[in-house]
Amino acid sequence: MNIASILGKFCYSGVCLKSVCKSRVNPFRIQVLRMGLLTEGSPLTWEETKALAEHVRQHGIEQFINLYKKLRDRTGDVLKWGDEVEYIIVKFDDENQRATVSLRADEILPELQKKELEDPQNVKSLWRPEYGAYMIEGTPGKPYGGLLAHFNIVEANMKFRRAEASTLLKDGEVIMSITNFPRLGCPGFTSPPYEPTPSSGVTRSHFFPDESIYPGHPRFKTLTSNIRHRRGEKMAVNLPIFRDVNTKIPVDNYHELEKGVAQPDCVYMDAMGMGMGCCCLQLTFQACCITEARTLYDQLAPLCPIMLALSAASPIYRGYLTEVDCRWNVISASVDCRTREERGLEPLKNNKFRIQKSRYDSIDSYLSPEHEKYNDIQIVHDPNIYRRLREGGIDHPLALHVAHLFIRDTVSLFSEKVNQDDENDTDHFENIQSTNWQTMRFKPPPPNSRIGWRVEFRPCEAQLTDFENAAYVCFVVLLTRVILSYRLNFVLPISKVDENMQRAQRRGACTQEKFWFRRDVRSPDADVYAEMTINEIVNGKDGVFPGLVPLIESYLSGMDVDADTHCSVQQYLKLIQRRAAGEISTMATWMREFVTQHPAYQKDSVVSEKINYDLLKTAHGIQTGSIAAPTLLGSSNVSKTNEDIPKAFTKMMNKDCP
Ligand code: ADP
Ligand code: MG
Ligand code: MG
Repeated sequence: MNIASILGKFCYSGVCLKSVCKSRVNPFRIQVLRMGLLTEGSPLTWEETKALAEHVRQHGIEQFINLYKKLRDRTGDVLKWGDEVEYIIVKFDDENQRATVSLRADEILPELQKKELEDPQNVKSLWRPEYGAYMIEGTPGKPYGGLLAHFNIVEANMKFRRAEASTLLKDGEVIMSITNFPRLGCPGFTSPPYEPTPSSGVTRSHFFPDESIYPGHPRFKTLTSNIRHRRGEKMAVNLPIFRDVNTKIPVDNYHELEKGVAQPDCVYMDAMGMGMGCCCLQLTFQACCITEARTLYDQLAPLCPIMLALSAASPIYRGYLTEVDCRWNVISASVDCRTREERGLEPLKNNKFRIQKSRYDSIDSYLSPEHEKYNDIQIVHDPNIYRRLREGGIDHPLALHVAHLFIRDTVSLFSEKVNQDDENDTDHFENIQSTNWQTMRFKPPPPNSRIGWRVEFRPCEAQLTDFENAAYVCFVVLLTRVILSYRLNFVLPISKVDENMQRAQRRGACTQEKFWFRRDVRSPDADVYAEMTINEIVNGKDGVFPGLVPLIESYLSGMDVDADTHCSVQQYLKLIQRRAAGEISTMATWMREFVTQHPAYQKDSVVSEKINYDLLKTAHGIQTGSIAAPTLLGSSNVSKTNEDIPKAFTKMMNKDCP
């Protein structure tokens, strides 16, 4: 049993939402066992946290400088990578034909984490809490490596995780990797049911009761309260409603209750949980050195909107069909802690900066010196912090990136973490880093670890089935290999990436929208951009662009791969190709069609209890394989349950370290 090392891992990452100690904790006194020492800490109040904002910032910057000095020359790390899938615990009430979210994550998680506590080196899965009291997050027990054959075990591991969690469920409960629970925020959407409390508690929402926030650690409620306090008013999300023939405008009366905030033709939401309570699919990979990590960060950033559109899976919010297919802007607004001054609604008086984006948004700058010229939007930063980073030996683009992350204040601080050793601790750095929830994350190695420089790819929506999740993950990891071996260049001016992020979320974007893309990805100098469909980007456009999948095929054709892995990878690429071509639907389109064709649908954009129940029942049937879904998955997917790695395998290159 090695509790210290497990908790040590949790603790390094400051306020990352999932970096939560596993013990069932008293909300006001947490005990953290770290490096053999038992320390105690409690979340500070907003006033205390606010007063320490500069302290966290200053020490966070010193910590980054120290870490950078120690680790900038670290090299020779091999490719390692892993996925993260988030799930919602759904409860079906078959008698009343209702589906709700079950608030049992804090009962299930300690059970799921038992094996890890006993033998952390030899578990097949790791489980972490997420924002919702109805959510859990699973990752493989250890990261995958550089063997092509590892693509053949991703899906099996996902299936194992789903089965493992399912053994702990009660009658009527299932776990589903759906991006959003369609009736999240509707009356009685939780089991057990709770009333929202608009004038008390941490969320103060008309829709989302505080009991829906994971109760097993104080961090989640502290963040909720502090983000709202910092903003100075409630969170506000307005999603344009999908206008069907009988859709009622105004949608409801919230535009009167919350004048000037809720818009009459929108689905209005007012809680952090309406965004952070959504699920996603993320992946992290290790680069051989910092330069490769910076390259991959930059090259994948323009692919974020493309993957967002391709993975679109959340068209329904608070029981209404909307004009969007993805969660991104919803989460972004749900944690937008900028004050009115920072949002440009009032002249700057108490705050330092106008800030263009929420702390949850797409990235604002590229990291490699050769991509500086594409940083064409304002990178707001404090010149003193930038100067200190430069004095600390950090180059211009990286200093700008870190200084920009550090325009944000800490929104969660624990008493035990206030005073730190800047030579050896990184909690203050991680505090700010891990609450900048961007499309990409550049992750320095944790102190004194064997982990190298990593990059996290964060835009994808959670897919319904393990087959799809595995396909998306393998596709992105293969893309990283293709980018490195062919030295491809996808970099666009950041303003165009931002424009693509907005296009990616529109209804039907995967097949209807065009996206800015580089015309010639094989020439670093040809700065010519064209608007292309996802189909053209993924499958190629004659004479213009070979297509991402053909590029991957070409990369793979030179490699010796066992037949079984080859077959799996082909199935995964096929799924991506067919989604891109519109031959099969995204989950978002599939859900829209299910709702609009349901006999109880009144053409009024409303997803009633009954429609929601039938939708989720059918989706669950697809997830378990009992219902065929040719329009969503095609017909060819084979279920991978074999976790054996064949003896003969090819190692994917870690292209000669630059
Ligand atoms: P987060 O920053 O989202 O909290 P974690 O650090 O917990 O993420 O890890 C997320 C993913 O990174 C997991 O899938 C895990 O398997 C993978 N991972 C763990 N170690 C490494 C590594 N050395 N290199 C690359 N990926 C890793
Ligand atoms: Mg997560
Ligand atoms: Mg993550």
